[in-house]
Amino acid sequence: MKILVINAGSSSIKYQLYDMPGGQVLARGILEKIGDKLSRLTHRRGLETSTREEAVADHKAAMQQILEILVDPQVGAIEELAEIATVGHRVVHGGEEFTGSVIVDDRVLASIEKFVELAPMHNPHNLVGIRAARDKLPHAVQVACFDTAFHATLPEVAYRYALPFELYERYHIRRYGFHGTSHRYVARRAATLMAMDKYRLNAITCHLGNGCSMAAVRHGRSVDTSMGFTPLEGLVMGTRTGDFDPAILFYLADKGYDLTALNSLCNKKSGLLGISGASNDMRTLEQLAREGNVRAGLAVEIFCYRVRKYIGAYMTLLNPPHAIVFTGGIGENSSLVRRQVCQDLDHMGIRLDPQGNEMGRGREGIISAADSVVRLLVIPTNEEEAIATDAYELSVEAGASERAKGHRDGT
Ligand code: ADP
Repeated sequence: MKILVINAGSSSIKYQLYDMPGGQVLARGILEKIGDKLSRLTHRRGLETSTREEAVADHKAAMQQILEILVDPQVGAIEELAEIATVGHRVVHGGEEFTGSVIVDDRVLASIEKFVELAPMHNPHNLVGIRAARDKLPHAVQVACFDTAFHATLPEVAYRYALPFELYERYHIRRYGFHGTSHRYVARRAATLMAMDKYRLNAITCHLGNGCSMAAVRHGRSVDTSMGFTPLEGLVMGTRTGDFDPAILFYLADKGYDLTALNSLCNKKSGLLGISGASNDMRTLEQLAREGNVRAGLAVEIFCYRVRKYIGAYMTLLNPPHAIVFTGGIGENSSLVRRQVCQDLDHMGIRLDPQGNEMGRGREGIISAADSVVRLLVIPTNEEEAIATDAYELSVEAGASERAKGHRDGT
């Protein structure tokens, strides 16, 4: 079964075409700068890469271009679009309604629309992606996979803020958590690597990329996570503050900052970029720190310090976890960050193997010392594969129930 996975952002659409259930990637790519004078499509099939540059006005036109290249006789991966049975979409916010992936119907679309208010920077683009795919591939099943869904198991004590009770009831203000597809994927993969049942595993999962979040996973389910009502809370990120005293906002408002400026300050100008004044990119900061740039070094230190604080907090919930998993661009590739995070934690049963930690970039493996109580793992995340798997399972179920219905109806 051919499954197309779509991740639609504000000005880009990423895609991967899978052959399921084997999980083979037939083609992948990204169309960037949608709406600009010149958009750029980078398409990969196996080791071949092709690029196209032309004006692409909107997401609908972008989807058209992606579908065209997928059936292109030279660089495409399928002969006709009818081969695509299912499209799996990443959707950032599923509110309290979606606790897992679902087949998209009009009711689901209306709910995603309703949650635009909670994720104004993400859900509108996800919706446009779904509508464009529905329009261009009317025969295909559309599946939505929510970033929030894995955290639907958070207990009330973890998801409530200490705000007046009615704000939850009136405005649904609570901690939702994000990156759920990634946390779920690496937790399941960790269970497989440790030959454990996925519902026995206790783990701390650290997704450290441009956006960063951690989750405490008990018996395979998320019981706490560092991102909150929005992806702003928690760890220090590329350009986001993570945890800080909200009274700073009142103070700055008093100094003349308006809402737009405060939003941009917290989401786009802070984090690694804000501290270093140089870059939001960990690779660049590590290089600058090696060259003696003090603020770059401080940014890396603060980043690691915050991860350590959350490890401390989640150790008390999991007592002790079987594993700590590192994933995301930084978690998978930065041996320096992993070393700084894990140093001097022997008293918690956490001991890094310095040689193991230097393993090649983007590889999967164990990086803890043989006598570490807590296993330390690096697992490259694969949200697209997780979405393709959900989409495949839901399509098979839907097909099976359709067939059963046909059988009952005598058709
Ligand atoms: P996104 O959250 O946008 O998917 P990624 O997961 O790709 O981002 O993570 C991007 C981050 O990973 C950047 O800060 C980048 O510098 C960092 N990164 C990638 N490779 C390395 C490396 N070899 N060493 C340190 N940091 C790295």
